[in-house]
Amino acid sequence: MTVPRPSEPTCRLCALGPLPEGNHVPFDASTLVVSSDCDLIALLRRDLGDILVAPSLHVSRLSALPGTAMARFLATLRRIELALQAGDGSASLRTVELLGAPGHTCIRVPTHPESGLPLEKSHVLLRLKSALYASSD
Ligand SMILES: [Zn+2]
Repeated sequence: MTVPRPSEPTCRLCALGPLPEGNHVPFDASTLVVSSDCDLIALLRRDLGDILVAPSLHVSRLSALPGTAMARFLATLRRIELALQAGDGSASLRTVELLGAPGHTCIRVPTHPESGLPLEKSHVLLRLKSALYASSD
């Protein structure tokens, strides 16, 4: 489903728009946008080795997301969290604000257990894609 999303002209994530599947674009020197569709934007922080997941809708805060958008966002976030076997589950998630994109509160998903070794970037991307493109029905 392709739905135009509200956008804020000064916002760097809104300016990006939807990305074709498989395309990656830099957000800043250490952060890569690896997916952007009508529901969700996923970014890989190469320096920290984690994933940031933000709603595509530009809203003042997460709780301002419309119900259906919130449901789709949380379902996809949960699939990503499971695919990345992130830490202790939801307890390890936290929010992050990106400079230049104030309308997209990001949820940080660690890509390795607290006590384990970090996943290789290619494995992170494969697991992320399997979660993003899994059927949500
Ligand atoms: Zn925005």
